[in-house]
Amino acid sequence: MSGTDKYAVFGNPIKHSKSPIIHRIFAEQCDQQMQYRAVKVELGGFAQAAQHFFDNGGSGLNITVPFKRDAFGFAQRLSDRAMRAGAVNTLTRVDDGVIEGDNTDGIGLVRDMVANLGWAVQGLRVLVLGAGGAVRGVLEPLLRERPRELLLVNRTPERAVGLASEFADIAPLEGGAYELIGERQFDLIINATSAGLSGEMPELPSSLLTERSCCYDMVYGAEPTPFMRWAAHHAAWAVADGLGMLVEQAAQSFYIWRQQRPETRPVINQLRAAMEAA
Ligand code: NAP
Repeated sequence: MSGTDKYAVFGNPIKHSKSPIIHRIFAEQCDQQMQYRAVKVELGGFAQAAQHFFDNGGSGLNITVPFKRDAFGFAQRLSDRAMRAGAVNTLTRVDDGVIEGDNTDGIGLVRDMVANLGWAVQGLRVLVLGAGGAVRGVLEPLLRERPRELLLVNRTPERAVGLASEFADIAPLEGGAYELIGERQFDLIINATSAGLSGEMPELPSSLLTERSCCYDMVYGAEPTPFMRWAAHHAAWAVADGLGMLVEQAAQSFYIWRQQRPETRPVINQLRAAMEAA
């Protein structure tokens, strides 16, 4: 492609989005001429705003809360993983003019855990907390890593039951209420609830962790989240937040758009340092 191609992230709220800085660094690294903006879209106005963007020569969009379902409906063609997730975080105008939808959240999570943190998922007993849009996006890539077992628990248990039955053809998994945890122990616990955003965490039995358990919170921030503090207090083997997932899902979107894989480690380090200094 030549000239400056236009990209953006659509969300509401959007002020604190790190996507523009992440893509700016990726573009510099890969010597790509591109512009990337954060756009606040009014609730109910996604399709109109996206149509306007592409009609005016836009090349690709990232989509964040609360529009991933709208983007799924807007896409004219869907990748298998977006179809499965029922949500789209990346829209691309491809060569034939069609707007294609993809979901890179799950790849982002798995790449951060496996490649960056060295937490191989294969053979592990995995517990996922939450059953919202993020879990929908990550279940397939997670199950494809072949954990020994996967239990999905949620405050509204029916959602976890529903998701477990939707994904059961990939690999066996269970879904339901937090009570299902009982006295069971897990090697990997992924917090995919938004509870941390309001300084909370779901109540968990301390018997859940072994001395080798890893705990991952999809939420990130300058300070450890309540779930991360809980995990450290209960002597988890390793604890991480979702900053790496954010950068890795962005890298996958960048790859879809520009066919180049940026280096993510320096970007994660740079964002971490900026967050801690703020
Ligand atoms: P969502 O669709 O709104 O789902 C929120 C989930 O959190 C639901 O399962 C909800 O349970 C649960 N929840 C909320 N408050 C809770 C509480 N106090 N106690 C127990 N459970 C609670 O949100 P989402 O899109 O799945 O996102 C989940 C989190 O992941 C968000 O914080 C988001 O910022 C983060 N995320 C991070 C990345 C990244 O790149 N790092 C990517 C995607 C998402 P109910 O079903 O009972 O309401």
